[in-house]
Amino acid sequence: MSTNEEIASLYSQYVMNTYVPSLTLVSGKGCKVKDADRMQYLDFTGGIAVQATGHCHPKVVAAIQDQAQTLVHCSNLFYNVNQCLLAKKLSEIGLGGKVFFCNSGAEANEAMIKLARLWGHESGRYEVICMQNSFHGRTLATLSATGQSKVQAGFDPLMIGFRFAEYNNLDSVKALVGDKTVAILLEAVQGEGGVLPATDEFLRGVRALCDERNLLMLCDEVQCGMGRTGKWFAWEHAGIRPDACTLAKALGAGLPIGALLATPRLSNVFTPGSHGSTFGGNPLATAAALAQIQVIEEEGLIEHADEMGRKFREALAPFVEKYDDLLEVRGRGLMVGLVVKGSAKEVAAAFREQCLLCCVAGEHVLRFLPPLNVTEDELEEGVEMMSYAFEELYGEA
Ligand SMILES: *Cc1c(COP(=O)(O)O)cnc(C)c1O
Repeated sequence: MSTNEEIASLYSQYVMNTYVPSLTLVSGKGCKVKDADRMQYLDFTGGIAVQATGHCHPKVVAAIQDQAQTLVHCSNLFYNVNQCLLAKKLSEIGLGGKVFFCNSGAEANEAMIKLARLWGHESGRYEVICMQNSFHGRTLATLSATGQSKVQAGFDPLMIGFRFAEYNNLDSVKALVGDKTVAILLEAVQGEGGVLPATDEFLRGVRALCDERNLLMLCDEVQCGMGRTGKWFAWEHAGIRPDACTLAKALGAGLPIGALLATPRLSNVFTPGSHGSTFGGNPLATAAALAQIQVIEEEGLIEHADEMGRKFREALAPFVEKYDDLLEVRGRGLMVGLVVKGSAKEVAAAFREQCLLCCVAGEHVLRFLPPLNVTEDELEEGVEMMSYAFEELYGEA
């Protein structure tokens, strides 16, 4: 079998250098993964919030196997059973209207931006107010909507029609609303931007502003959706509803799928030919999504995520008390951020030495996205690994 080092060397020769991985993962089960050197790790990256039911949940695996030997793909020139069942389910748990399927978060957000433009077209409105430090994807439209210069650098001219307000500051949003404004786009918990939840007050304020000015409220739930924050959708915490939202990461249990969900009033804005996707909602990806949703419901994983998230944040809080280098624990449900004074990458590397994997968000935030079915024991194990890493890094306080 190839080693971590051999695979890394093949990558450097043949794969474009857009990421900087450190390990080759070869297998996973639940919250554990193994690398090419046969080391086992506790995986709090969850494939960047994708593996909601953990790696290789038996019911998800069975659904994928079953569908793979029946019909993998047929294009959207034909109906397929799984796609409409998934749309029905997402409509019921979500916004009560129709669903459009694609293959990724960026694509789902592209669809949402196109929907808003098409809806606003007659009134000549196209401008979308986005948030500073947001993240909406890497395609040209979604990176233009992303409020981080590092994502945009070198790709100008960017697409026009996006303006940036300060997150959690309603006045700064209001100040940008003009004749051309058609929508306000935000993440109810910013993920890549640093695991920063919107305040309920801000979300309600944006909702009210949209109602008042006839704007669409668009929520990017690609990372914070699918139960991760302790609700199916993170906007639910504020008791409001957007006009449309997107899902992707955790939707397909690891198979590539994205979705745009709309309220009934936006459900017929797209018409035959106005948007499309060859792969979107294919039988295999939707089979995985249906199985994963069933597992989330059967195993009560949304309530579990809420409870585990609270316990996890409580377990991290003493470290912030103890070490001056640790500044804050934040997040919602099992979307947890730990803000550090120094380099988050360095701390993540120290965790890896202890066989714990996590993500970083920006320079200074460690981001934990364990599967929603992570156990209390696994969380404790992770916290213990962190305590060793902190001792190594910062010494006894
Ligand atoms: C990851 C992410 C995206 C982009 O999803 P891709 O599947 O990588 O295109 C968009 N929005 C948010 C909030 C994300 O976290």
